[in-house]
Amino acid sequence: MKKMNVESFNLDHTKVAAPYIRLASTSEGEHGDVIYKYDIRFCQPNKEHMDMPALHSIEHLMAENIRNHHDRVVDLSPMGCQTGFYLSVLNDNDQDGIENVMEKTLNDVLEATEVPACNEVQCGWAASHSLEGAKEIARKMLEGRNEWSVVFR
Ligand SMILES: [Zn+2]
Repeated sequence: MKKMNVESFNLDHTKVAAPYIRLASTSEGEHGDVIYKYDIRFCQPNKEHMDMPALHSIEHLMAENIRNHHDRVVDLSPMGCQTGFYLSVLNDNDQDGIENVMEKTLNDVLEATEVPACNEVQCGWAASHSLEGAKEIARKMLEGRNEWSVVFR
């Protein structure tokens, strides 16, 4: 296959085994700071996906809570295929540490009583949310906790 510009377009999605956390790419600045981008795969590609309201709510919950466990989060965003998220952090390539941060963040989701910023002032589609759906996604991801560092089948 032709080498593509986008890192994940060069990943064979038929060979991966979700759930997993994979370092996808690195970007180094001129002063040596490095942004590490992780592929956090919740669902097996082309077999399952997250429904939009649940995905949207777990995005809000993780984006808000992960910053209580890590002070150099650049971004946490859902993939358009609805099978996972990208997490970008500054100067942190500690796989075990990232896994622990994700575990804490997903436990926060399980304990949540509401979706943060779930209103028309703070969100672009406030009607599309599901707290219960978000918890189901978190529960399933945590069930696979021991397999997160294994990417390929
Ligand atoms: Zn939103």
